Amino acid sequence: MKPNIHITADAELKKQVSIGELEKTMSLILASFKEQFIKTNVLFEGDLPSIEVVLNKKTSALRQGCFLPRLSSHKILKFQLFYPIDKNEMDAVILHELMHGADLSNLKEKLGTFDRSKEFYLCSTLEDQLKYIENSGIQNFSIQWVFLHFLSTFRDEGIAILGEKLLGKKTGAISFEKAFFNFQKDINQVTQLCCGMKFHNRINSKQVRTIFEDTAINAYQYAEVIIYELLKGSIAGLEKMSLHDLLANNVLKEKLQLLKSALQLDLAEYIRELMKLKHKNTPLINSELLLSYCGVIQGGSSEHPAFFRQLYLVSHNNDKTGFTELIRSVCDRKMQPGEIKEKLDLFNQTSFSNDLKSEVRKLANEVFAKRNNNNKEVSDWALTYLLNKEDLIYDQLDYLGLQDDWMVMEAASSFE
Ligand SMILES: [Zn+2]
Repeated sequence: MKPNIHITADAELKKQVSIGELEKTMSLILASFKEQFIKTNVLFEGDLPSIEVVLNKKTSALRQGCFLPRLSSHKILKFQLFYPIDKNEMDAVILHELMHGADLSNLKEKLGTFDRSKEFYLCSTLEDQLKYIENSGIQNFSIQWVFLHFLSTFRDEGIAILGEKLLGKKTGAISFEKAFFNFQKDINQVTQLCCGMKFHNRINSKQVRTIFEDTAINAYQYAEVIIYELLKGSIAGLEKMSLHDLLANNVLKEKLQLLKSALQLDLAEYIRELMKLKHKNTPLINSELLLSYCGVIQGGSSEHPAFFRQLYLVSHNNDKTGFTELIRSVCDRKMQPGEIKEKLDLFNQTSFSNDLKSEVRKLANEVFAKRNNNNKEVSDWALTYLLNKEDLIYDQLDYLGLQDDWMVMEAASSFE
């Protein structure tokens, strides 16, 4: 394989640094890109992309390089590196940015959400916001960005750091327990803050900026440990291994397999997996807080903050009556079997923007197929919840809209 890699220096930098020095640096970068690209190329889907790198003057002491998803396509990936480069760090930086490059589809999807969110903020009155939602259609529904930004930073950086560690020379990782409690503290803090914020003027506030900055710093401490914990159960041989131990092991096949599944995990699934994550019976995410947060971005406060906790209890206790009562408390009426069939057919026909939706679809069809005299109440109420677009979390909310539906379907399909 001959990778197509093109490196140029920015005009300003050329004025300040001698040609000889620049050429030396650029040939080091080229060699490093080649080496790191060979390590990561199985992670790219389809034909291998070409790579374009621009060397710029360093503007921040912390930043050594970045991937530019907005300017990249699946054919050409664009990167920036900053001069002077710390030669000891160069391989790790390039490996990290290539991991982001392999994650292009997910990063593009995130940018789309962010752009719509920005547009949404241009609507200063509630009336304008409602008009915007109406005109933009379901696909363009916007969402308040802070909480999603927080989670997507942990997802995106977690994957890149995981790649940097598994394929590079970095070793060591903090324990899952430590990562879990740090993350739990951070998530709850951000959710609480988001819940407390009103609809307007959120994006420029100083508080939000602080969250964004702190998030990035915290993500670098342990985001990869969390991603690893979500995925290790699905890779044979890694189920009982800590990331720390895996890093000391020479098992390239498993490491690549893990990175591939990490890149498959889109933000909606990442959030779903986080909602399942527990440490000694303590859940990572406070679902009631999450529900209140969704209530806030839907333009009101949630009336049923205890819904997720009760849902967990009734399914844990195999309490079918409790389940139907709970769903009844948030749905006005139970749909008739004919209506359910009709709406489920429509739901099956809609396109699937993420894998969470196809998983919800699979569970829904299972519940529907297993409907019988013993469980028809559970089945009908659960499907009513799913097929009602304005349930507790509106289905069209990016990344979050189906989390509640997934939990309801999962509970309904688990009853004996
Ligand atoms: Zn990064």
